[in-house]
Amino acid sequence: MHKLFKAIYFAAMVAETAIRAPYNTRRRNLPKQERRITPAEQGLLGALFFAMFVLPLVYSVSRRLDFANYRLSPSAGKLSGALGAVFMAAAVWVFWRSHRDLGANWSPTLEITEQHTLTTTGVYGKIRHPMYASQALWGVGQALLLQNWVAGFGALPAYVAMYLIRVPREEQMMLEHFGDEYREYSARTGGILPRFGA
Ligand code: SAH
Repeated sequence: MHKLFKAIYFAAMVAETAIRAPYNTRRRNLPKQERRITPAEQGLLGALFFAMFVLPLVYSVSRRLDFANYRLSPSAGKLSGALGAVFMAAAVWVFWRSHRDLGANWSPTLEITEQHTLTTTGVYGKIRHPMYASQALWGVGQALLLQNWVAGFGALPAYVAMYLIRVPREEQMMLEHFGDEYREYSARTGGILPRFGA
């Protein structure tokens, strides 16, 4: 069973890599107006790579992390894996949707390109940070699929730190560039959860 859960985890990773690849190629050639990357953020991107890829890989191909396996009954393990697969599928779907909606405005670090426009439609019409929402779904999916305190659960702090460090800086940058347009957009959207009511 664990083999299947590991396979689902890496299949989701292959799917996200394939979704992102064309956007990455396209954005490389776009002239940039501004780039805000700090050493803290670069460190975090490294930590994310470690948490998303290196630890899951070590857990999947060796027995080194077995000491930290969750102690679940077989049925609880199955339930956890099945739920994890649902979270992963949701993460990949939101990831795909947000790349499609953000298009050429996407970048892996905080950047404004010469032709940058403010995306406010599609999934961005509901929440401002669908890619980070997708990462949160991924984090939960990972903790449920990879039933190990280091490879599964250990990744959550990296995702939380990324969100806490990045979002305020990203919103500040967007506010400086788009001013009232961004203020108005923020007022009617949620951060990673849709805003209900007013
Ligand atoms: N926070 C968003 C985007 C992540 S990609 C999300 O979670 O989906 C990061 C880059 O996207 C930033 O450098 C910024 O330039 C760009 N960006 C973020 N929100 C945007 C928006 N609403 N319209 C256009 N570009 C945006």
